[in-house]
Amino acid sequence: MARVNDLENALRRVVRGSVRFDQASRLLYSTDASMYQVEPIGVVIPRHADDVRAAVQVAREQQVALLPRGGGTSLTGQTVNRALVVDFTQHMNRVLKVNAEEQWARVQPGLVQDELNHHVRPMGLLFGPDTSTSNRATLGGMLGNNSGGSHSLAYGLTVDHVIEIRALLVDGSEVVFGELTAAELQAKTRGAGLEGQVYREVAAIRETYADEIRARYPKHWRRVAGYNLNELLGVGVRPHSYAGGGNGSPRPLSMARLVVGSEGTLLTILEAKVRLVKRPPATAVNVIHYHDMQEALESSQAILETGPYAVEVTDKLILDLARDNIEQSRRMGWIQGDPAAIMIVEYTGENEAETRSKIQVLEGRRARDGFGYAAHVAYDAGEQRTIWNLRKAGLGLLLGMKGDKKPIAFVEDTCVEPRHLAQFVPRFKEIFAKHDTVGAYYGHCSVGCLHIRPVIDLKVPRGMEQVRAIADEITALVVEFGGTISSEHGDGRARSPFIERMYGPKLMEGFRRLKRAFDPDNRMNPGNIVDSPGILENLRYGVEYKTWEPVTMLDFSNEGGFAAAVEMCNGVGQCRKSLEGTMCPSYMATRDEEHSTRGRANALRAVLSGRMAPREFTGERLHEVM
Ligand SMILES: Cc1cc2nc3c(=O)[nH]c(=O)nc-3n(C[C@H](O)[C@H](O)[C@H](O)COP(=O)(O)OP(=O)(O)OC[C@H]3O[C@@H](n4cnc5c(N)ncnc54)[C@H](O)[C@@H]3O)c2cc1C
Ligand code: SF4
Repeated sequence: MARVNDLENALRRVVRGSVRFDQASRLLYSTDASMYQVEPIGVVIPRHADDVRAAVQVAREQQVALLPRGGGTSLTGQTVNRALVVDFTQHMNRVLKVNAEEQWARVQPGLVQDELNHHVRPMGLLFGPDTSTSNRATLGGMLGNNSGGSHSLAYGLTVDHVIEIRALLVDGSEVVFGELTAAELQAKTRGAGLEGQVYREVAAIRETYADEIRARYPKHWRRVAGYNLNELLGVGVRPHSYAGGGNGSPRPLSMARLVVGSEGTLLTILEAKVRLVKRPPATAVNVIHYHDMQEALESSQAILETGPYAVEVTDKLILDLARDNIEQSRRMGWIQGDPAAIMIVEYTGENEAETRSKIQVLEGRRARDGFGYAAHVAYDAGEQRTIWNLRKAGLGLLLGMKGDKKPIAFVEDTCVEPRHLAQFVPRFKEIFAKHDTVGAYYGHCSVGCLHIRPVIDLKVPRGMEQVRAIADEITALVVEFGGTISSEHGDGRARSPFIERMYGPKLMEGFRRLKRAFDPDNRMNPGNIVDSPGILENLRYGVEYKTWEPVTMLDFSNEGGFAAAVEMCNGVGQCRKSLEGTMCPSYMATRDEEHSTRGRANALRAVLSGRMAPREFTGERLHEVM
C-alpha cells in the first residue's frame, strides 16, 4: 500500500472537491451511530461524479480500501473503516430527474430522504421506504443498507423500489445495473473486464447455490442479512411487491436488487433510478394503550387483520424518557394514564370518511377481543405528526441516557414472522434477564421487526461478556424461529460474524464468491458481511477507554462531568437534519460534518480520550471545528 502522503498528493492533483487527511478530519469520520470507532485513512468530499471516478482510480493505483458514505447514521459499524472515505452528502445530493407520470426519480446518492419527498410531494408522490432517520439519512445509505421503516407493510424495503443503479466497480469501470432476462444475463457473461467477470460469477452462483438459496433464506421477506442472492431466484421476496408490479408475479432477475444492501462492500453508487408511489390522500392514527407489553404483542395479529398502513409499538421505558424530555413532554397530552406500551395503528383512505370507517372496524375488533385499556384517535394531520414524532424520537431519547450504561445496538434488528412475536419477545427478555440486563422495546410490529437494545456498560469487562453471550444466544433464538438477525439496519461489524449461523457454510461460501467477483483485492469496505474481524473489535468505548477532565467555567456535574456530557452524543446524527429545525444552522449552511454538533462532539471526545494530544484542546484545528 502507498504511503499516506503519496495518496493525499495524488488525490489533490485530480479531485476538485475536498481532500482531508488531517487527524481531526479523520477522527470526525471515525464513528457512526454504532458502538464502533475506526480512523479512516483520509476523506474525499467529491463535487461530482468525475471526482468519484478520480478518487476510485487513485485508490486502485495505490491499492487503498474505499468506503462510500452517506449520513453516517448506521447502527452496526458499516460506515467506519480503515479506508478512504467518500462522503457524498455535501455536493452529490440532488434530485436529477422526476417522471411523475411513470412514477420514478433519478437521484444522487447523497440526497436526503426527506428532501426527495419534499421535492415530489407537490406531484402527489412519495418514496415509500421511510427510516426514522429520514431527515438526514441518504438514498445512498438506504441502498447500502436496504433500509425500510414504519410503512414497510405497504411499501417493503428499498430493494422493492430500485429500478436502476449506475455505479463504479472497484477498478474504476462504470456499470449500469437493472433487470435482465436469462438470455440477457447469458450475453453479459461474455463481456470483457471486471464487469464481464462479475456477470459470469453471478450466473455461476445462481446455478450452484439455487437449492441452498431456496432452503436457507427466511420465508419472511423482511430480511437484509447477507447478500441478496435470493433476488437471483425470487425466493423470500416481498409478495405483491410494487417492484413486481403489485400483481404477485415473480420478479425478474435484477443486478440492481442484487447489490442493494451490500453496505459499500461491492461497488460505489453514483446514481440511482428509484420508484415512487402515490401519496395516500388521507391517513388516520389510532394509538392503543396497554397495561402490559405482552398484551400488545398478542393483539398485533388481530390488528393486522384490519388492513393497517402501519403498526408500531413503543414501550414504557421510552415513554418515561419522553416525559422527562422538555420538547417531547409538551406534546404528550394525548397519552392517557401510564401505559406499559402503546401501539400506533395507522390507516389510509381516499378521504377522511374512509379512514374513519377503518378506525371503526379496529374499535369494533378491540371491543370484541378486549385488548387495550384506552385509545386515542387522530384525524388531524398536525396531531398525527406529533404522534409520529414521538415514535421517531424514541431511539434518540433512549440513547441520550446519562452514565456509562447505554442501550447498545447489536441485536436491535431481529425480525420474525409477526405471528411469532408474542412467543419470540418473552424468550428475548429471558436472555436479557439471564445476563443481568434490561432492554427497551419498540419497532415495527406490523412486520415482526422489533428494535430491542440491552443496556450495557462497555467500559468494563462484564459488558464485553454480556455482548458476546447475548449476541450468541439471540442468534440461536432467531434461527430457531426461522427469522433474521438484520431486517433493515444492515449487518456491519456487529452482525456479520453471525451471518453464517443463519445461512450455513455453503451460502456463506456463495457470499464470499460474490464479494470476490466484485472486489478481488478486498478493498471495498472490508470486514463487513464476509470476513468480519469479530463483534468486539474496534469498539468506540472499551475497557481501555479513559478520559481526562478539563477545568471548565460552566458546571457539568449534572451530566457527570464535561467528558461524560460529550459522550452523550450517540452519533445518530439528528443534528444533520437539513430541512427543518434550528439545531445546527452552521451545518445547514455548509453541509459539512465538521460543522455539525456530532462533529464537534467527536472532536472534543478525540482530545479528551487521548486520540489527539491534550494541547489540541486549545489548538487551531479544534477552534475551527467549534
Ligand atoms: C435513531 C436511528 C433510527 C434508525 N431507524 C431506521 C429505520 O427505521 N429503518 C432503517 O432502515 N434504518 C434505520 N436506521 C439506520 C440508518 O439510519 C438507515 O439505514 C439509513 O438509511 C442509513 O443512511 P445514511 O445516509 O446514514 O447511510 P450511511 O450510514 O452513511 O451508510 C450506510 C451504508 O451504505 C453504504 N453507502 C452509502 N452511500 C453509498 C454509495 N454511494 N455507494 C455504495 N454504498 C453506499 C455505506 O458504505 C454503508 O455501508 C436508524 C438509525 C438511527 C441512528
Ligand atoms: S450531537 Fe446530538 S443530535 Fe448530533 S449526533 Fe450527537 S447526540 Fe445526535
